[in-house]
Amino acid sequence: MIAAERKLRIAVIEACLTMNRSGFNQGTSGNISARWKDGLLVTPSGVAYDELVAKDLVWMAFDGAFEHPLAPSSEWRIHRDILAERPDVGAVVHAHPPYATALAINRMEIPPVHYMIGVGGGDSVRVADYALYGTPELSKNVLVAMRDRTACLMANHGMVATGPTVARALWVGQEIENLARQYWLALQVGTPTRLTETQIAESLEKLSGYGLRSKPK
Ligand code: 13P
Ligand code: ZN
Repeated sequence: MIAAERKLRIAVIEACLTMNRSGFNQGTSGNISARWKDGLLVTPSGVAYDELVAKDLVWMAFDGAFEHPLAPSSEWRIHRDILAERPDVGAVVHAHPPYATALAINRMEIPPVHYMIGVGGGDSVRVADYALYGTPELSKNVLVAMRDRTACLMANHGMVATGPTVARALWVGQEIENLARQYWLALQVGTPTRLTETQIAESLEKLSGYGLRSKPK
């Protein structure tokens, strides 16, 4: 295994450990992938993250073919389909973060109540329609909700976040979870005020490329 591939595999494992240690995800829920060669590296299905070693990640071609003793994540289609359809995306994080998932259970999208909504690439974080986990239908629903966005919630399930790198995809996911928490808190004490279209447009413009050393190609 060449050094660059090893580095990427380790970055995926570290992101898995970070997402669980921070309370963003728990157990073997969730999965992470990164674009590699003409395919992707994806976490194996149902393996505890603190047991993962570099060679455990499954490399899969874009046609879904793989040769590995471990099964790829049951959500490999979501990862494969996003990476195949979106050249701007280098990594995909799927997780079950508590606040985002609570909203998704209620089929509530995150409206534009904070300028950080722009992290999701638009004026809301949509909820993908429900389908059984691991199915092509769920992947199709996620792609619809992700149109022109970097993240979406998944009805009665969780969240998907993307970025040019693994670290960025996890950051997007964590920011969306924080927004979900802030929105949830705001709902407890009043009626959240939405930003106007102009206010959203100017924050989207200002946020584009925020925190990136260089804008993704
Ligand atoms: P895997 O362990 O197969 O990746 O599945 C976890 C999950 O979150 C399914 O939606
Ligand atoms: Zn899941």
